[in-house]
Amino acid sequence: MAARAQLPIDAHLARIVEAVREVGALVLVAEPGAGKTTRVPPALMEAGFAERGEVLVVQPRRLAARMAARRVADERGERLGGRVGYTVRFDDRSSAETRVCFVTEGILVRRLIDEPELPGVSAVVLDEFHERSLQADLSLAWAARLRASAREDLAIVVMSATLDADPVASFLGCEALHVPGRTHPVAIEHLERPDERRLEEQVAGAVRRLAVRGLVGDVLVFLPGAGEIRRAREACEPIARAHDLDVVALHGDLPPAEQDRAVRQGPRRKVILSTNVAETSVTIEGVVAVVDSGLARVARHSPWTGLSTLEVAKVSRASAAQRAGRAGRTGPGVCVRLYTKHDHETRPAHDAPEIARADLSELVLLLRAQGHDPAAFPFFEAPPRPALDAAEGLLGRLGALDEGGRPTELGRRLLKLPVHPRIGRVALEAAARGEPERGAALAALLGEREIRLAARTRLDDGARGLHESGPSDLLARLEAFEAAESDGLSPRTLRSHHLDPAATHAAARARDQLLRHMHRYLHRGQVPMQVEGDEEALLVAVLAGFPDRVGRRREAGSDEIVFAGGGAGKLAPSSVVRDAMFVVAVDVDDRRRGATVIRAASAVEPEWLLELFPERVRDSEEHRFDPKQERVEVVRALTYDGLALDESRSAAEPGEETSRVLARAALAAGPEAFCDAEALERLVRRTAFASEHDPSLPTVTQETIREALVKLADGATGFGDLRRASLLDVLRAELGGDALARLDRLAPEEVRLPGRPKGAPIHYEPDRPPWVESRLQDFFGLTDGPRVAGDRVPLVLHLLAPNMRAVQVTTDLAGFWDRHYPSIRKELMRRYPRHHWPEDPRTASPRRPSR
Ligand code: ADP
Ligand code: MG
Repeated sequence: MAARAQLPIDAHLARIVEAVREVGALVLVAEPGAGKTTRVPPALMEAGFAERGEVLVVQPRRLAARMAARRVADERGERLGGRVGYTVRFDDRSSAETRVCFVTEGILVRRLIDEPELPGVSAVVLDEFHERSLQADLSLAWAARLRASAREDLAIVVMSATLDADPVASFLGCEALHVPGRTHPVAIEHLERPDERRLEEQVAGAVRRLAVRGLVGDVLVFLPGAGEIRRAREACEPIARAHDLDVVALHGDLPPAEQDRAVRQGPRRKVILSTNVAETSVTIEGVVAVVDSGLARVARHSPWTGLSTLEVAKVSRASAAQRAGRAGRTGPGVCVRLYTKHDHETRPAHDAPEIARADLSELVLLLRAQGHDPAAFPFFEAPPRPALDAAEGLLGRLGALDEGGRPTELGRRLLKLPVHPRIGRVALEAAARGEPERGAALAALLGEREIRLAARTRLDDGARGLHESGPSDLLARLEAFEAAESDGLSPRTLRSHHLDPAATHAAARARDQLLRHMHRYLHRGQVPMQVEGDEEALLVAVLAGFPDRVGRRREAGSDEIVFAGGGAGKLAPSSVVRDAMFVVAVDVDDRRRGATVIRAASAVEPEWLLELFPERVRDSEEHRFDPKQERVEVVRALTYDGLALDESRSAAEPGEETSRVLARAALAAGPEAFCDAEALERLVRRTAFASEHDPSLPTVTQETIREALVKLADGATGFGDLRRASLLDVLRAELGGDALARLDRLAPEEVRLPGRPKGAPIHYEPDRPPWVESRLQDFFGLTDGPRVAGDRVPLVLHLLAPNMRAVQVTTDLAGFWDRHYPSIRKELMRRYPRHHWPEDPRTASPRRPSR
């Protein structure tokens, strides 16, 4: 039994218990190590809260749940699993006797699914609430709603070392209690410039510098995960020997004794290599220096699949501040950050709560199964509407929700499986097709990181020749897993099979867990047991889980995949799927700018789409204009979400739809594609001019031209037909004989001149009187200029010299003859003596110049 040291929280326990008793809820903020986790739950128990049921203490991490339970039992001199216990995934140390039970968030949520009103629970303590996981947010909202309805007696305590407490307190309608703590100043050191060395070398370097400077206590090093901790441990060994230090590790995969060793005060100074569990959930006494890699392993939610994977990412400034603070517990401390000040300053202040960025499929399925509308559920912070809609959409496609948003039988089964609905769907489909075991393994592999080390690194090496060809990258992964498992999953076999040990073991455990859950149905006969399994069953199962990720090669042999519903991607060079025309893409890298790279795909046969999703397959017949052949075709297609599964084309017969499509194409091409554009323009201008003088005369406008084109398309099938039919003729016919005759009178196309064998064209232009241009000599014999518009409008005459330059522009030929011709004539005679320049142009016959 550990000595029960006095802790800062002890003086406030009475008040805490009182507040919970009176209001039923409390938000408690106190520095790490103050005693929140280990003192508040037993205090509630002792105050009688546990008489009506368990006090559930919810932790974001397994490690924290286990350690806290052990510590509390130990301090009370009780057996773990007696009055104090814990339950985490794959490890249950609780009994019917247990009154204070430390659980992970996942465990609480599974309990909500089975027993929504939490019978047998008297209080829910949400610890480390600032981490704001999706499950913690759900737990808070759920508990608050229960308190407002069926469970008025349910007590809620929210605890954290670093929480903006007031909003949570006002959400719960309770008090926010701050227990003052004492922290000492911590000097923070950043790198001058980024260090390119491996992380473990950087850690060893920092520890050496601290040791050389002289240490009066322990060093706490923050690293992202077990692998980094193992490597750093090796790198620190020589320094530890030289400076008489112990090197210990703290992470979730260690045996309890080792975890305790990391926390316990030892005979010598320690270097503790820890994950972010030591940030606020586990306090280590005696730390005077912190080395911070600035990294953590965090859940990343793939926008592509909605599945989450653990990835190494930079921590926020808030996390970095907490980490540094761990050095100032007993006295002034120092924190060495293995990154630059600039790096620090460009990080986000806080991490966005998961509910604002995660896939919400599991959450929505759970709420729907309990009859709640997720959009109306009283969350502390509402999830974004688009994410809710996306989740509802996916669940509908997976067959988990019916059209009214109610969970189907399949949806209820999926909810019972401890995996994302996509993964559960894969497992159930494989089982239904006679492959429960391999299906569960396949599903588990889908939910975990890639186990094959080579496939992780060879993403982009373009070394295609190295990889075999096959129907599915997932089957390749499954086969690698099965091969290693049949050799026993020892570290040596895994090494020789080039598999990641942690990922492989995680997959094996997840597979076993899935199978256990599924066996309940298998035995109840709800899922037919193995009939006759084969590879196809597994491929169909993959499709069942990713119905929204189906694509087709742009063409045979191409790496480019066009997705149903839009978008495109490129198969990674490492993919074994080289032949299949249709694929389902289950893992993509879309974080690079530009192309979406498909890391893992699986072949799909169009028949499977028809079989699984008949409501999404459409048999369509569409008239389409083929710009190459310039004709309308009938395209008959079988489509899945707009993606052509099968297509045939043939020339269209004349008909209403053909004409409509042709007319649209013709209008887009413009009238000039079907007639002499200049002739058309002349007709437009002539009718415009003529109608000014006879408003009853119809005009030819862009509108009438379009109408004529549409009319032309009637009964036609291609542009050739339209060209043959002549747009101009149609327009003229539209005007009619009478109008054409009037048009020719009012706005003749040309005017006869005495000196020209053919008529001279009359130019009609907008905002300008009509004009004609011809040699001066052509006008000899005319006493006055020609007129149009029923003699109302004199033509503007451009009178040209033999060099074709205008000598005069006029509407008054008579005046010109009188006033200007005599003098111009002299000039012309001088310059063009071989031409005939009569004295009286009115009577002279225009003689051709003699040569
Ligand atoms: P809080 O939750 O407020 O951060 P805890 O209740 O976890 O505080 O811890 C209170 C004190 O008990 C701390 O000083 C911590 O170091 C100590 N402590 C907690 N668990 C252990 C353990 N397993 N071994 C040794 N000391 C522990
Ligand atoms: Mg705590």
